[in-house]
Amino acid sequence: MLRSVILAASRSSRVERLVETAPLSRNVVRRFIAGDGADDALRCTRELVGKGLAVTIDYLGEDTTTAAQAEATRDEYLNLLDALAAAELTPAAEVSVKLSALGQVFDEKVAYEHARAICGKATEAGTTVTLDAEDHTTTDSTLEVLARLRVDFPTTGAVVQAYLRRTEADCRELAAAGLRVRLCKGAYKEPESVAYQSRLDVDKSYVRCLNILMSGPGYPMIATHDPRLVAIGEDRAKWFDRTPDEFEFQMLYGVRPEEQLRLAHLGYTMRVYVPYGTQWYAYMMRRLAERPANLTFFARALRSRK
Ligand SMILES: Cc1cc2nc3c(=O)[nH]c(=O)nc-3n(C[C@H](O)[C@H](O)[C@H](O)COP(=O)(O)OP(=O)(O)OC[C@H]3O[C@@H](n4cnc5c(N)ncnc54)[C@H](O)[C@@H]3O)c2cc1C
Repeated sequence: MLRSVILAASRSSRVERLVETAPLSRNVVRRFIAGDGADDALRCTRELVGKGLAVTIDYLGEDTTTAAQAEATRDEYLNLLDALAAAELTPAAEVSVKLSALGQVFDEKVAYEHARAICGKATEAGTTVTLDAEDHTTTDSTLEVLARLRVDFPTTGAVVQAYLRRTEADCRELAAAGLRVRLCKGAYKEPESVAYQSRLDVDKSYVRCLNILMSGPGYPMIATHDPRLVAIGEDRAKWFDRTPDEFEFQMLYGVRPEEQLRLAHLGYTMRVYVPYGTQWYAYMMRRLAERPANLTFFARALRSRK
């Protein structure tokens, strides 16, 4: 119930204005977001890579409605990739991209062309791109764009969401040789007709999808903070004889940082998803919806200013 209310608020521009202008919001979001600019993302990436972690960087922003905004997002990624290469942070750092930030909402072709330019630059920089999964109305379009990108950029990563009923079938399609697939639970508010609603059903779907990906010929990226699912991931790696370079774990910046280091020290690749930019509102609200404790932390910080 609380999750639904927060996720509904994540799409409200009135609540957005209220939260963005609230005193201390910025300090609170720093726990989950590297900072406003590419320099912040680079500094954060350098620190994480120095600790033995891998990184995927996300330039915040979604549901772009103008061609100019979509171009600006593309250019930000191109500059970021140049900067990552110059700082010798590739291949440990790659980028995560939301097609809705590249114009998918108003023209899928525009989003494809921008994503293509980003994939080209990433290849030049010696790294990869992963296409984030957004709400279910975009899934078909995103998978179509991904299939086209993979013709020239076969390492482009897919993301699948275990809460969607369709995802087991998508995993079978996507788990081809060498292909990178991130499995997450899913972060949007979705109707019962397309998505499992209970935690138990989502977790069971996650394990079924994990089994498909870990037993197949692709490269699974296990994105979760859930201790039970991390343990099942480790287990499946043993069952299916996967060495640590044949899959990876992923977690979000600011969430369970000690667990991130523990897994890296065991020899696994642990990739941290590092968001940066000024458009942090929707991302932040999804993090709050996932964990009521984060909401308490947020509310306490806002109150403490008074
Ligand atoms: C790298 C990465 C990329 C992602 N990309 C996408 C994407 O493209 N599209 C999308 O829809 N979603 C994405 N997500 C978000 C994802 O779908 C989930 O919403 C999010 O990860 C929360 O689910 P969870 O698996 O961590 O489990 P949850 O059900 O949120 O948590 C399960 C358990 O994990 C533990 N836990 C969780 N958070 C904490 C914490 N802060 N401190 C201590 N313990 C904690 C607790 O034991 C909790 O009960 C991504 C997540 C990650 C990690």
